[in-house]
Amino acid sequence: MASLDKVATQSFAAGAPVARCAAPGRVNLIGEHTDYSGGLVMPAAIDFHTVATIRSRNDARIVLYSQNLAEEVAYPADPLPVTARKHWSDYPMGVAWSLAQEGVRVGGFELSLAGDVPLGAGLSSSASIEVATALALLALAGAEMPLATIALACQRAENAFVGARSGIMDQFIACAGQQDHALLLDCRSLEYRLLPIPPHVRLVICNSMVKHEHAGGQYNARREEVEEGTRILHRHRPSILTLRDAREADLVECRQQMPDNVFRRCRHIVTENKRVEIAAAALERGDLLAFGAQMAEAHRSIRDDFAASCSELDTLVAIAVRLPGCYGARMTGGGFGGCTVNLVEESKAEQFRQAIHEEYRTTTGIDADIYLCRASAGATCLT
Ligand code: ADP
Ligand code: MG
Repeated sequence: MASLDKVATQSFAAGAPVARCAAPGRVNLIGEHTDYSGGLVMPAAIDFHTVATIRSRNDARIVLYSQNLAEEVAYPADPLPVTARKHWSDYPMGVAWSLAQEGVRVGGFELSLAGDVPLGAGLSSSASIEVATALALLALAGAEMPLATIALACQRAENAFVGARSGIMDQFIACAGQQDHALLLDCRSLEYRLLPIPPHVRLVICNSMVKHEHAGGQYNARREEVEEGTRILHRHRPSILTLRDAREADLVECRQQMPDNVFRRCRHIVTENKRVEIAAAALERGDLLAFGAQMAEAHRSIRDDFAASCSELDTLVAIAVRLPGCYGARMTGGGFGGCTVNLVEESKAEQFRQAIHEEYRTTTGIDADIYLCRASAGATCLT
């Protein structure tokens, strides 16, 4: 399994003050496409990380190095760039920009980034690089900030600087994850509750290895459909500001005023919020079968109503639910490719991995990467 030592690098000469901070990737157990409408999500941080190693420079230059991409880039620190250049370095530079807006002193620095979160697979390498960078910059400045403020600053970096319309879930769980726990997060209030994941259960993540070309455009299209539905519901009942405020009855009453696709996208989100609550109660009483039933329903809903699955993800789920020891399976993350998450009995996890790999290859011709994960702690500074 991935460990911090495996990915930690130290590409700097000895002597200068250095901080080394790590932030995890995440998997969302249930509550998909709900975060940007103030809804409920249930992510867990996973034992894959990005490590950011930092030291100051006294020449007002910023030097960034990604070990994953074996590339170094440099920027001025004064003034800090205020626009992205469609490059991986937008993520750390966006965080520097965002923290500077919060009043954090950002001078010249060198930042080396190395991670084992698969890039672009839906396990949120983006939030892990952002949060690791934020902790490193805060350590260098000798500044402290509440976790929720760090998460919001990183989300702002991704939304307003990088230009990706993500919700708050990824950055929040990267900050606030706890070992052996999932987190029930209310994206409207940012209140959260820790939910224990039984020690005999593994989070098995299957990477479909596909990312459909249209994923980015479809994600934005879904968000526009959700916004359109919210506007119609708001006219119907002005207290509805986000879909979190809507009940299924509101949706039914507005059905004639909405295009069918908009109705179905909204129905996914409104019913998904309910499923997350039921699933949270199931996890709290250790009822994994009841939890798995909500995962199954959530997968059907995101496939049929939200239309964010794809044949490869559906295949992985269909194989998984027939295998021994699997309590539940569903696609996770933004969709249109990426990963599924499976709750699997620990003693059956290895057998599950082999079986799903073989059957998925037989059906699709694709070799899936399969990760046996545990729920892990959130971001931390190592030195
Ligand atoms: P995901 O968050 O699901 O992994 P995203 O598309 O949101 O997918 O973010 C992936 C992007 O984040 C990468 O394409 C790259 O630009 C950036 N990134 C993440 N980790 C690193 C890293 N270690 N080095 C350089 N860039 C990284
Ligand atoms: Mg991301």
